[in-house]
Amino acid sequence: MKKSVFSGKAVAEYAISSPIKILSLLGNAVKPEATGAPASVENLAVSVPAGRIRVKDVKTIEGQVPLPEAEVVVSAGRGMKEPGNWGIVEELAEILGATTACSRPVADSHWRPHHEHVGQTGIAIRPNLYIAIGISGAIQHLAGVNNSKVIVVINKDPEAPFFKAADYGVVGDLFEVVPRLTEAVKKFKAAN
Ligand SMILES: Cc1cc2nc3c(=O)[nH]c(=O)nc-3n(C[C@H](O)[C@H](O)[C@H](O)COP(=O)(O)OP(=O)(O)OC[C@H]3O[C@@H](n4cnc5c(N)ncnc54)[C@H](O)[C@@H]3O)c2cc1C
Repeated sequence: MKKSVFSGKAVAEYAISSPIKILSLLGNAVKPEATGAPASVENLAVSVPAGRIRVKDVKTIEGQVPLPEAEVVVSAGRGMKEPGNWGIVEELAEILGATTACSRPVADSHWRPHHEHVGQTGIAIRPNLYIAIGISGAIQHLAGVNNSKVIVVINKDPEAPFFKAADYGVVGDLFEVVPRLTEAVKKFKAAN
């Protein structure tokens, strides 16, 4: 099978030679194809021998769909200026039923929790819709998000590299654009 490596810059071919083969796929990694035949899910009773790993603590993130499973992600970067400004991002995410994410410097500065960091060194995601707010679109960020189905970029700099990867782009001040977008979604939802 093929697997993308080096942040999506190359494709490696692998073969599994063991009799039991386990593959895990990211959401949206494979396009569904209509076969016309019914598909069945087989549940296997697997007995796993006790491992040497002990779980000491489990912390569950509540309230949002976990990033790897989210269909809609609203993500923001250093353009937000400071952590106190995140209310407009959270409001947009809430009205869209989206999960929030962020760029690495934002998580490194503790503006947002580390589990929100997406990109080469963070979580790789493939949502149906990725909205990037005040994020420049550095290659290391794109490596984790450029397989999203639809990418919307909001940035005041028309030369921001993210626009090259965007399906839709808004050149403007995020502090004006984001609240207006939230209002537009609210109106749309109320009318439909
Ligand atoms: C080895 C390595 C691994 C890395 N891994 C990752 C990773 O996994 N994920 C990641 O994100 N980064 C990663 N980085 C960092 C990456 O190179 C960039 O530095 C980072 O993504 C930039 O974050 P940013 O876009 O939030 O900030 P910036 O580059 O500072 O961009 C901020 C953007 O906001 C815009 N902006 C500012 N004000 C406004 C406004 N009022 N309205 C609208 N737009 C505005 C600006 O025009 C700018 O484009 C990595 C770097 C290295 C070296």
